[in-house]
Amino acid sequence: MEQVKILLDLQEIMTRARTVEEQKRRVPLEVADLKGLFEEREAAFLAARQEFEGVRQQRRDLEREIEEESDKVEKAKAKLMGIKTNKEYYAMLKEIEQTKRLNTEREEALLALMARHEEAEKRMNECKAELDEVSGRYHEQMVDIDARMASYDREIAAINADRQRKGASLDKSLLRRFELIFERRSGVAIASAQQCACSGCHMNLSPQLYNMLQRGDKLYVCPNCNRLLYYSEECEGSEAG
Ligand SMILES: [Zn+2]
Repeated sequence: MEQVKILLDLQEIMTRARTVEEQKRRVPLEVADLKGLFEEREAAFLAARQEFEGVRQQRRDLEREIEEESDKVEKAKAKLMGIKTNKEYYAMLKEIEQTKRLNTEREEALLALMARHEEAEKRMNECKAELDEVSGRYHEQMVDIDARMASYDREIAAINADRQRKGASLDKSLLRRFELIFERRSGVAIASAQQCACSGCHMNLSPQLYNMLQRGDKLYVCPNCNRLLYYSEECEGSEAG
């Protein structure tokens, strides 16, 4: 029966469409892990950069402070020459010593800050390298995925055109019925009758219905699952062994 052949082809085409659509649907899930890793690395890098910039600013502030205080010392030293009284002289000398001592402390703090600055820079660079590596992989995957998505879309378009062509040769109400059963019966709308049973739901068919099916003059429906039925000698042979 020509109709059966068309329906079977159509079922195969629609199953293929489902498979490709499912593959396409799963694609974004593939990137999710790598995207998560990318975002993690990006956050780590941004935090490391912020830490680095903070330390760098502290270092600059302290360096400026040391410079300003050293200037004060130089100016005070110059003034020292013009001072007339001993009292004033020693007061200024004391102030100079005080400023120098504070600057020595500042210089020690600066050394610690320089070490932290170096460490922060190293950490930032490490984070950047890690981010670049993941980012490279992520973008490569995105390019690959875009290509695959495009190929899925092309395949789906080709399948749909095929489906349209096949469907056009069928009676419209039969086609609509077939499509409805396909959706409701998990992608099997037409099933073979084998060994007196429907291969879709495995329900035994009456000998009368089975005989009519064997005659193959028109389409029959399984009374249990409503799938369209066809008789296949091929299936009969393979089932019987
Ligand atoms: Zn059935």
